[in-house]
Amino acid sequence: MRLFGVVGNPVAHSRSPLLHNALFRYLGWSDRYVRFQLEHGQEIKEVCSRYKLSGVNVTVPFKEEAYALCDRVEGIAVDIGAVNTILCNNGELIGYNTDAPGFWASLGEDKPRRALLLGAGGTARALALMMRQEGVEVTVLNRSAKRLDYFRTIGVDAYDWDSFVVSRFDLVVNTTSAGLVDDELPLPQPLLTNVFDHVGRGYEVIYGKETPFMASLKARGIPVVDGASMLVWQAVLAQHLFTNPPLSNNEIAQLMFQAVIL
Ligand code: NDP
Repeated sequence: MRLFGVVGNPVAHSRSPLLHNALFRYLGWSDRYVRFQLEHGQEIKEVCSRYKLSGVNVTVPFKEEAYALCDRVEGIAVDIGAVNTILCNNGELIGYNTDAPGFWASLGEDKPRRALLLGAGGTARALALMMRQEGVEVTVLNRSAKRLDYFRTIGVDAYDWDSFVVSRFDLVVNTTSAGLVDDELPLPQPLLTNVFDHVGRGYEVIYGKETPFMASLKARGIPVVDGASMLVWQAVLAQHLFTNPPLSNNEIAQLMFQAVIL
């Protein structure tokens, strides 16, 4: 039996065990996936060795710390500077980021050419980098101007609410935490309405609830994907690294979607 886990603080709400254990059960494997609440990111190494973990996922607030403590970091995690998946290989920790590739995979065949990201935090950085690497024209729109400089260095147009002029986008993604624990919209209503007049579809990275952003898109008849898709697809890609299951990505995703809905 191999043991995997999610490390973070808090982790009690994490749906990751549901997703990964559903796959292990389906395959008839004895592997298990559990939660570890840590006080400090530095404990990741100790937990991996004490419980002989084969791999872990890292969640809030330890993704940057995980990046720093891995012995080696691979793929897009190097550019993002944050790690959400670690392989524990005989004491060596190898870090990856499957959040941004998970978001990209969750878009299916219909990839955007022009995308608008609402917010300028860690999630926006990761998604902007991912989409830039895939050749998407990306614009960032944030409440304040303080975090915009980074985006300009990676070829992304970045605006605060006052300087933004709306144009046509295939996709608008809410990466802000507006709607997570409150009922706020990510933009003032008039600006949001203007964006919705010019957009093909929406994506909400928050999962587990219908946010005001999602509800507004639905009310306008604009198709919207919710954050459960990103959650599921980052787990699908993490499983490739953990166990390389003998199923297609779509089959694994379907199984995990059923588990997250139940
Ligand atoms: P950060 O704290 O790094 O960034 C938050 C951003 O939201 C900032 O740009 C901030 O603006 C903006 N913001 C916060 N509150 C408001 C508001 N009321 N109105 C407008 N803008 C606001 O957060 P993260 O990037 O780490 O996470 C963002 C969201 O993504 C969270 O809700 C998280 O749960 C979700 N998430 C989902 C994942 C999934 O798998 N589905 C994976 C990872 C994250 P300012 O700069 O002005 O402060």
